[in-house]
Amino acid sequence: MRLYTYRYKGEIRVGRGEGDSIVPICGITDMKELIGCNFEDLWYDSPVKLDSVELLAPIPEPDRDMICLGINYVEHGEEAARYNKEAFLRERPHAIYFSKRINYAVAPFGEIDPHSDIVDKLDYECELAAVISRDAKNISAEDAYKYIFGYTVINDVSARNLQTAHKQWYFGKSLDGFTPMGPCIVTADEFEQPPRLALKSYVNGELRQSSNTEYMVFDLAHVISELSAGMTLKAGTIIATGTPAGVGMGFDPPRFLNPGDEVICEIENIGRIINRVGK
Ligand code: MG
Repeated sequence: MRLYTYRYKGEIRVGRGEGDSIVPICGITDMKELIGCNFEDLWYDSPVKLDSVELLAPIPEPDRDMICLGINYVEHGEEAARYNKEAFLRERPHAIYFSKRINYAVAPFGEIDPHSDIVDKLDYECELAAVISRDAKNISAEDAYKYIFGYTVINDVSARNLQTAHKQWYFGKSLDGFTPMGPCIVTADEFEQPPRLALKSYVNGELRQSSNTEYMVFDLAHVISELSAGMTLKAGTIIATGTPAGVGMGFDPPRFLNPGDEVICEIENIGRIINRVGK
């Protein structure tokens, strides 16, 4: 099932995709209310055409910071270390976790704020994100996928100058407007476990990243099992699984984003988000 958050005639609604339409779910205005609920109990309103609505990020205001995987594809680790050894070159026997604040997730066709006053190395990272369906504590790797509500596409927009200047990545990842998300959440029952999905990004139409989620170093079974051994992953938690090679800092010389650039992040069977960098 494809689940959308959208604005139609001034109202924010949540609905399920059906062909070229969205079927609005009665009484639900926030995706977070849908997470963990029984879909058989839902009622629906009359469908509206997908192209007549303004799509919003599926979860515009997450309840808590997003949990992110750092350097979770081997070739991205290599390109990052070439760019800045001190910040990125290290032995990695364990997953790297960091968090990213999302005050308001950018809509699937919304604008990325470049924060040009403090950012001079703006970068993109196409990633598969998983949404947790119910509180997860002490979950085995075998059971981990039972706790995933669905998947979406995010762009983990990054200010490399801030990310590398500060010891922790938090600030450089968390500026307002740094998390485009969407275009929908596709429920987990539509994917194999782990999902094997082609993932691509484009800048101004030029292919930059092209990989597959099967090449993650630490998959979601590992991540959910490891984290939930020590912290409850609350329903609605979003986990971003890391980005493959081909980001701007990976080129020599680096190819960072500029105002007016268009970034597309696309994952097979979920869709694409298209975001222009603002002026
Ligand atoms: Mg990332």
